[in-house]
Amino acid sequence: MDKAKIDFLKALWDKYIEKLSTIEDIKKIKSLLQNVAIIDIDEKKKKVIIGAPNEFMLLQVKKFFKPLLEEITKELYNPAFGISLKVDPSLNDKKNPLLIDLKKVLKTQQKEVPILDQQTKKILTDYFGILFNPKYKFENFIVWANNQLAFSAAQAVAQKPGQVYNPLFIYWDVGLGKTHLLQAIWNYTLKNHPDKTIVYLPTTKFIDKIIEAIKGNKLSSLIKKLEGLDILILDDIQFLAEKEKTQEIFHNIFNELYLKRKQIILSSDRPPRDLSSLEARLRSRFAMGLVVDIKPPDFETRIAILKQKLAEKWEDLPMEFLEIIAKHITTNIRELEGALNHLITVKKLQKRELTKDDVYNAIKTLGIPINSNGQTPIQSATFAQSLNTTNEKSFSKLVDFIANYYSISPQDIRWDSRKKEISIARQMLMYLAKNRFGWTLEKIGDYFGGKNHSSVIYSINNFQKLLKRDPKIAKDREVINNHLW
Ligand code: ADP
Ligand code: MG
Repeated sequence: MDKAKIDFLKALWDKYIEKLSTIEDIKKIKSLLQNVAIIDIDEKKKKVIIGAPNEFMLLQVKKFFKPLLEEITKELYNPAFGISLKVDPSLNDKKNPLLIDLKKVLKTQQKEVPILDQQTKKILTDYFGILFNPKYKFENFIVWANNQLAFSAAQAVAQKPGQVYNPLFIYWDVGLGKTHLLQAIWNYTLKNHPDKTIVYLPTTKFIDKIIEAIKGNKLSSLIKKLEGLDILILDDIQFLAEKEKTQEIFHNIFNELYLKRKQIILSSDRPPRDLSSLEARLRSRFAMGLVVDIKPPDFETRIAILKQKLAEKWEDLPMEFLEIIAKHITTNIRELEGALNHLITVKKLQKRELTKDDVYNAIKTLGIPINSNGQTPIQSATFAQSLNTTNEKSFSKLVDFIANYYSISPQDIRWDSRKKEISIARQMLMYLAKNRFGWTLEKIGDYFGGKNHSSVIYSINNFQKLLKRDPKIAKDREVINNHLW
């Protein structure tokens, strides 16, 4: 074999190992692929031929790496190619020119992980512990119409901290990528601006740190540290609610950083104006820079997300299954991923092909309502049409739907029951009766077991409050809305 070919095969195998090391355990790669190499490429049979030094190692490679190596071949060499495994005793010889220096490749790979500069490292470990997920990067953040702005803004502040939008405030419901974006900024900064000091903190952790510092008489030193940062990221800022003292401390830190043109990045489950239990002056500070929302993806995008998540895991599932998932899980990427993970686990554990029932189960496991035949309880189109009246029959269908959603009985909803789930469902229905069906308070009262009109008002107001305060209920309402209107 000529040298050019050897060099090519080696370089290719290098790439394979690099890719593998981002997916597989490094130890496993080291122990099993020490004497393994690409020994040839069969252009006719469209195979990349991977050699192992003996039968035993060949079996190990087959068992642990074959599907991955197939995938990598398609990605790195040629989508039309597969692999074939072959014993090649000459690979026992360390001097075989086809063997690469595995340690060297893996080492340079490991360096890719961000290295913290001394100062950042000290701040992070001494004060906050390291709280980030290296998985959250810009590169694997999927962009759709309703998160495009948040994505671009996050990239812009990461590239030019303190110079474009300050503060950057990102909000919407859970599971839509706020933490992912915030930590992507963190990751990006460590890699690209190693001279900047940056801290990412969940707000709950921030509050703990303040309390701890007050107790230990170290508040001023903590404040000094935070005010010395180039970039401060606080996730889920709504948790500052009703923490007056912490709010005041944060207000001062905020002003100091802002005046020094240091970057502040915040996330919340709602926009600044709705953070009603925060001091007004903080709310107005939050709105000074750029406020962006992230709205849920549409059906096509949800399918695209599922596909990408599968690709990241080197898995695949039939389109039909993805459609079922995307149809039922509408507002939360974490749940989309959860359903996939559930299915992949079932597949691995039970070593069999998946069925539609597995898919329905995966969705149910997440607490999303679904009938045994896989239909949402009432098909939305026909139901929405039949709702264009104000009559009681069609309202009863809504009662059935919501009862089914919460897995409770429609009778319990209508007649008095003080269980929490049931009373929330009842309050939601009263709210919808008034706002969607235009019923009078008297009519609503009659329908729900003869309640007087002040009790109906109370229920509706209470539900409106819950909607603002309780993200789970807001989400329930949204899911129900999505199914119905
Ligand atoms: P939030 O902080 O808004 O509640 P997270 O950032 O924790 O949401 O996201 C939940 C999960 O969904 C994470 O695993 C995250 O990686 C994933 N995710 C959310 N949005 C995206 C996106 N646009 N692209 C890829 N993954 C996403
Ligand atoms: Mg989050």
